[in-house]
Amino acid sequence: MARKLAAGNWKMNGLRSALAEAKTLADMFPAPSVDILLCPPATLLSGMAEMLSGTSVEVGGQDCHTAASGAHTGDISAAMLADAGAGYVILGHSERRADHGETDHLVSLKTTAALAAGLVPIVCVGETFAQREAGETLGIIRAQLSGSLPEDCDPARLVIAYEPVWAIGSGKTPTLAQIAEVHDDMRATLSARFGDAAADIPLLYGGSVKPGNAMEIFDTSNVDGALVGGASLKAADFSGIVKAL
Ligand code: PEP
Repeated sequence: MARKLAAGNWKMNGLRSALAEAKTLADMFPAPSVDILLCPPATLLSGMAEMLSGTSVEVGGQDCHTAASGAHTGDISAAMLADAGAGYVILGHSERRADHGETDHLVSLKTTAALAAGLVPIVCVGETFAQREAGETLGIIRAQLSGSLPEDCDPARLVIAYEPVWAIGSGKTPTLAQIAEVHDDMRATLSARFGDAAADIPLLYGGSVKPGNAMEIFDTSNVDGALVGGASLKAADFSGIVKAL
């Protein structure tokens, strides 16, 4: 059985004053029954990790470079994230794929780098609306899983997030049946590759998860948690999602 995980992706939001929200969240869940993670912008990572040290809320990065160090101005390595206190890193988010042209192959190299640095990668996959309309969703997700997970991927240290591109930040969500179809298919695809170990890989749903729809999404087949954008910025909202899990 996969462990439950509520992960917040702050994206490019949050100045130092926003760290208070993380502290408020941690104070609300001194002994949670699920894993809680916040992925702030890189500028807040070490401050948040220090603030949350000893609490039940973990921190993660939003991206990493494929290399451990070197001449890559503006980039951050997985080892640097780990050094700053991160335990996880989001990889292949659709905004990275769109804004920075990230391919499945690049995501697989980043996944290798993250694992080598001791981080748990949260590898994101998801179809566009046009791909869904064309009936290509399952094929797209299978191809992204195959291309984004490296040969030597350790299933015991892996999280997958299914995030339909059209559901992110739009207020729209797939039907529960559509979410179940994709999550069941992802579990089957991962089982074919990793065997029994695939049962323990947390499969997160992401895309306009709110306190009001979280419970029904979490009751859906093979959904082990959520990757949450907008509703993770305020402890009052994110706590409602954590409680629903
Ligand atoms: C995300 O960016 O990963 C996301 C799911 O965003 P939102 O919850 O705002 O749709």
